[in-house]
Amino acid sequence: MRAFFDRSEPRLVLDGEHPLWDEALAAVNRDLAATLPDQRPLRLIAYPECEDLDEVYVALSNGEAHGSPLTPVRSAVEALMAVADAAQDTVTERLWRAWPVCTVHDLGMHPRDVDGRPSWWCAGGARRGDPAHIRAAIGELDAVRRTPRPNRKRRKSS
Ligand SMILES: [Zn+2]
Repeated sequence: MRAFFDRSEPRLVLDGEHPLWDEALAAVNRDLAATLPDQRPLRLIAYPECEDLDEVYVALSNGEAHGSPLTPVRSAVEALMAVADAAQDTVTERLWRAWPVCTVHDLGMHPRDVDGRPSWWCAGGARRGDPAHIRAAIGELDAVRRTPRPNRKRRKSS
């Protein structure tokens, strides 16, 4: 933890500085737009740490962030997991709401790596036969909102 007096002004991370994080944030911002359309896109901000190392955070459009800085990643999958996690921290703590929420169960979801595909995981309902499930790949929550609920039994229409 850095001391408060050491906190210098954050700066906006420029396009192309961190391509893996940029790409991951674009996917997470698609989910934000699909679920909280009034929110402006999240962005990356950096606090100068030492000479050429920055601490990079996922922040709201107003620059407010919460949680830990992103740690260096080696792959797009790692980047998406890290950015989704950081975005969730920031949105949850700064907007005081669970995000993203599974619209089937009304529960906050969490990022999970499903065979190399970062996805939103929901703990499921309390009843039997309503298990934990993967809602959608991260970046694809808009698609799942437009399709019928998959585990809802079809009613006979007669
Ligand atoms: Zn669910």
